[in-house]
Amino acid sequence: MSPRYDAIIIGAGHNGLVAAATLARKGRKVLVLEARDHLGGMLGDAEFRVAPLPYALRPEIIKALQLDQKLLHGTRPLETLTFGADGQPLRITGGHVTGTDAITEHDYGALYARLGRQAKVLGAMILETPPGLGKASLGEATALARMALKLRLLGKTEMRDLLRIVLSNVWDLLNDEIGDGPLAGALAMDATLGGAMGPRSPGTVLTLLYRMASQSSHGHGLRVMPEGGPDALVKALADCVTAAGGGIRTGAPVEKILVDGDRAAGVRLASGEEIAAPLVLSNASPKVTLLTLLGVAHLDGEFVRRCRTSASKGMVARLDFDIVEPPKLRGGGALTSGQRLVVAPTMQAIETAFNAAKYGNLPNRPVLEATYDGAARRLSVSAQFAPHDLTGGWTDDAKARLSTSVLTVLDDALPGIAPTVHGTRVMSPVDIEVGYGAYGGHWHHGELRVDQLLMLRPFDGAAQYRMPVAGLYLCGAGAHPGGDISGAAGFNAARAALRDGGH
Ligand SMILES: Cc1cc2nc3c(=O)[nH]c(=O)nc-3n(C[C@H](O)[C@H](O)[C@H](O)COP(=O)(O)OP(=O)(O)OC[C@H]3O[C@@H](n4cnc5c(N)ncnc54)[C@H](O)[C@@H]3O)c2cc1C
Repeated sequence: MSPRYDAIIIGAGHNGLVAAATLARKGRKVLVLEARDHLGGMLGDAEFRVAPLPYALRPEIIKALQLDQKLLHGTRPLETLTFGADGQPLRITGGHVTGTDAITEHDYGALYARLGRQAKVLGAMILETPPGLGKASLGEATALARMALKLRLLGKTEMRDLLRIVLSNVWDLLNDEIGDGPLAGALAMDATLGGAMGPRSPGTVLTLLYRMASQSSHGHGLRVMPEGGPDALVKALADCVTAAGGGIRTGAPVEKILVDGDRAAGVRLASGEEIAAPLVLSNASPKVTLLTLLGVAHLDGEFVRRCRTSASKGMVARLDFDIVEPPKLRGGGALTSGQRLVVAPTMQAIETAFNAAKYGNLPNRPVLEATYDGAARRLSVSAQFAPHDLTGGWTDDAKARLSTSVLTVLDDALPGIAPTVHGTRVMSPVDIEVGYGAYGGHWHHGELRVDQLLMLRPFDGAAQYRMPVAGLYLCGAGAHPGGDISGAAGFNAARAALRDGGH
């Protein structure tokens, strides 16, 4: 079998497409193999979109791939709506909030600006390969030095403050700074969304800063919906691959990564077809890539142990509600496509929801992030916490219970929503696992927490995209810097492969 391709990319999630486009534009002959019939992974399935809101698309990647800048600047940054105890909406865009008193507005703005500056320190590492523990190449050492410089540039007071809070929890930080309430609830949602952690969990300041750092190169954390929506982004990435001569096949699940000697040699599809290539980049989650597609026979025991014990059980369910009219907001007006609704009235509400899930149960009152797609007349809700290992399993009855409690909670923000719903789809973490090859159905393909970040992502010894079998790379959310729609993992992995020689 002589190679017809320089590189095979397993999976056409947005990270797989970014990796393929990056390699193809450098003249590599690439083939993307996607198991599903749709491109874009969790982002791209218009029928049932897992990730409706591209959080963190990196301007550097849009520029490097010469994609249309409208993908970034087509619309205004999304506004977040949340509600106070009095039922009045608070409107948040980055560090600006309206609907509250002047003192809270000021305190929130000051805190957000400070966190934004601190997030910039971490931002220095988002588009870099994390340095190896114990050994770092010149490029990796330079990236670390840049991060250290950004830390120094914060000045003594803020540097000390960052080092003091970084491993602590958002509960303490936000209670000290702005008190518990809807603003703290919205920030704590950003810190915990997608993870198995509540606001009191250690390390949630770090995950908040990390998300803010990933969201924009300026650390302002503004979410921007691309002009044309998520579909436009997926199409732009796919077009970029094909325009550079790359191939994309859908309905082509990879069953095995082939190894020749100690090198990756290509893949075998579920159909039995074998395709040779000296480089294989996997957009599937690390556990699926290593334990299932590659197989433990090619790995040493300690590496396999670390892989198996890395945390990756999803905690978020996706619910789609078909509704006849735009959902009406408490206090007047309707939720629009340019807004994000957070229903987490306090940090305490998030912690209480997490407590139930910690023990394998569904919370009575989940906390929610919701968006409305006016064209599809669909309200999409991320509900946490919804444990992958739900006691009693994800039966139809469990899904119905979750759907009822989500509608009850939504009613606080969107009164009278339930009778307007004429269709409901619930996707549990188990459904996401089965549908997208993301082990545990995890938002980030693996928990984003202190011991699984940066040079420890996805786990110690596997943090630099390159796997122990030469020519095999991780290029999805399980690798640094993690999930959300940013493209960073795919971009970094492709550049690592190119630096290694990249065939
Ligand atoms: C409920 C939920 C809601 C979310 N909402 C948001 C949101 O609003 N905004 C946001 O930014 N992020 C959101 N996320 C996170 C985001 O969806 C992921 O972090 C992101 O999709 C990861 O991108 P990826 O390209 O690495 O992987 P994926 O999007 O998971 O794509 C992986 C691709 O690989 C394919 N694949 C896997 N195995 C194989 C195989 N063996 N052969 C061939 N193909 C294979 C899959 O079919 C899939 O297409 C959400 C996640 C969840 C679970």
